[in-house]
Amino acid sequence: MIQERINYLKESINRANYQYYAEDNPSISDFEYDNMFAELKKLEEEHPEFKTPDSPTQRVGSVSERFFPYKHKHRLYSLDNTYDYEELRRWYEKFQKEFGKNIELVCELKIDGLAIALTYEKGYFVRGVTRGDGVTGEDITNNLKTIKAIPLKLFEPVDVEVRGEIYMPKSSFEKLNEENLALGEKLFANPRNAAAGSIRQLDSTITAKRDLSMFSYTAIFENMENPPQTHYESIMYLKKLGFKINPNIEFCKDIECAVEYCQKWENKRHELDYATDGVVIKINSILYQNNSGYTARAPRWATAFKFPPEEVTTKLTDIEVSIGKTGAATPIAVLEPVQLSGSTVSRASLHNFDEIRRLDVRIGDKVFIKKAAEIIPKVVKVVEDENHGNLAVYSPPQKCPSCNSPLTTRQGEVGLFCEFEDCPAQNIAKIEFWSSKDAMDIDKIGPAIIEQLYKKHFIKTPADLYKLTLDDFMQLDLVKQKSANNMYTSIQASRNRPLNRLITALSIPNVGKETAELLSQEYGSIDNLIAAEPENFCKISGIGPKVAQDIYEFFRKPKNLELINDLKELGINPKFESNQLSDKFSGMTFVLTGTLRDMTREEASALIKQMGGKTSSSVSKNTTYVLAGENAGSKLDKAQDLGVTILSEEDFRNMIL
Ligand code: NAD
Repeated sequence: MIQERINYLKESINRANYQYYAEDNPSISDFEYDNMFAELKKLEEEHPEFKTPDSPTQRVGSVSERFFPYKHKHRLYSLDNTYDYEELRRWYEKFQKEFGKNIELVCELKIDGLAIALTYEKGYFVRGVTRGDGVTGEDITNNLKTIKAIPLKLFEPVDVEVRGEIYMPKSSFEKLNEENLALGEKLFANPRNAAAGSIRQLDSTITAKRDLSMFSYTAIFENMENPPQTHYESIMYLKKLGFKINPNIEFCKDIECAVEYCQKWENKRHELDYATDGVVIKINSILYQNNSGYTARAPRWATAFKFPPEEVTTKLTDIEVSIGKTGAATPIAVLEPVQLSGSTVSRASLHNFDEIRRLDVRIGDKVFIKKAAEIIPKVVKVVEDENHGNLAVYSPPQKCPSCNSPLTTRQGEVGLFCEFEDCPAQNIAKIEFWSSKDAMDIDKIGPAIIEQLYKKHFIKTPADLYKLTLDDFMQLDLVKQKSANNMYTSIQASRNRPLNRLITALSIPNVGKETAELLSQEYGSIDNLIAAEPENFCKISGIGPKVAQDIYEFFRKPKNLELINDLKELGINPKFESNQLSDKFSGMTFVLTGTLRDMTREEASALIKQMGGKTSSSVSKNTTYVLAGENAGSKLDKAQDLGVTILSEEDFRNMIL
């Protein structure tokens, strides 16, 4: 029994290794892999008689035959890992028993890319080799020379072997997958696979086109009189030599400090433009490192704390269709419930029907789902197994699931739409949107209450919310006096929201909160908006002919005018009030990125607007300034590429004083 399980695990892990390392195309998530690996390791420890030298627990990665093999001068290892803080503490205690109480540590983000060893002779880059199986790797020197973060000549003429992680920024990975989708080419499951696939191209001109970078994290100095005595010093020296070092490296005096570091980055990692799957905790003293040595596949002096998984595989059991406020039909994946980033997930976004076709998602498929910064997880890829070919190709529905009207296409828009004006799903979605945070911000009534109110015929339009009495709420299921009071009060409190929020809340196609703000400033009231012609809207920078037409048509529809009249009768008819302090930033467009120290990005945006400036979410040649806080991502790179002036928080403060 046990031997059978061991054999099964070995076989499954070996198959996964091949797909992951040789094909850059995994069919299971890292979390599933790590679980199988941990189970195999435990079984082998309990039953050493079944442990064989060819077990994946005794080896590191694998070498493909695509490039010339190169035997490493110094072996490269993997890392042991844990998902558990107690296990991390036990790892530290072992060192305390061996070397004494005060064991210093260094914490680094575990970059999710692929390991590379670079050799420099007298300061010149001579060779770059993948980790491979740790003993032999692939010589990919020419491809590595295309990466700007790899210096070809160091600032000092040293002999050194530097190890680091090649990675692809998340934003570049998304872009590459979008391009591959359009060209009908293979999609990469995650930035790691994209980086591995790009660096191991036989044609280095393809590698050169991919946005790859590298963080260096280990150095082995040769022929040096006084090499660094600690890991931290050696990393700082690498920086001085010209290598790119991850800025988030931290010295930790003990394990509790390391635990705090892991906890901090568990959430903060989403702000980064590169993927990190955990934290590497290393003993700082090189002497202690040398004394503790290595197991068959990993150093004893370092370990990885892995973050809860953000990407898992599960079965897609159905595709449901939801109808949004503009009538757009959105497919939603119904999943076999699975744990992801600490919560149970049973639904995921599929964006639109084109996406289903491009990904070739079929009901019954095993799929990769992913949750990153966004709240709703999304289906990123189908696992191409034998089962997939036997499933029926998905065809989009022809009727609206809510009102049964035909679903049709709209000129110039992606996807399918329900055009029935009185569709219940659309009406409910409009009221939900009306109440949302960016619109009228009625925080005490959620989707479930709105649906009940609608289905019990208390409301049909957003204006009806303001006609509700306390008694009406008491007639809803499971609503008690206190929550009825809260709901009633929060609706009443929304009566005085400013004009820009009301415009947002109206659900005008293609008008989000930024456009609503422009319209509010320019027109000052809903009546002025109704009276304007499409060409007037076009004069506002940021509004194109399509949006102008959408706004114009919205105010021609009797149903919308009826809603506006209804609101007016209820006393909801705000006028724009200027709160501009000066016109110092007039004509200027700012893009904000990263975390600011003394104010939130929203506060900085408000200040810019009060001083007559505009903010935008993307950098272009029309951007006047990029205000960059800590951990600024790809927007900063783009600003540098375009030569846009970058402001620090300090520069910005000086400008507003
Ligand atoms: P690993 O990725 O868990 O850890 C070792 C590697 O971490 C090092 O080789 C190095 O490349 C990297 N690393 C990143 N930042 C580092 C830093 N600051 N300091 C030191 N090292 C750093 O181990 P591995 O052997 O490369 O791969 C095993 C892991 O890969 C598994 O745990 C699993 O997550 C994944 N895997 C997944 C599949 C799959 O099918 N999904 C298959 C094989 C492996």
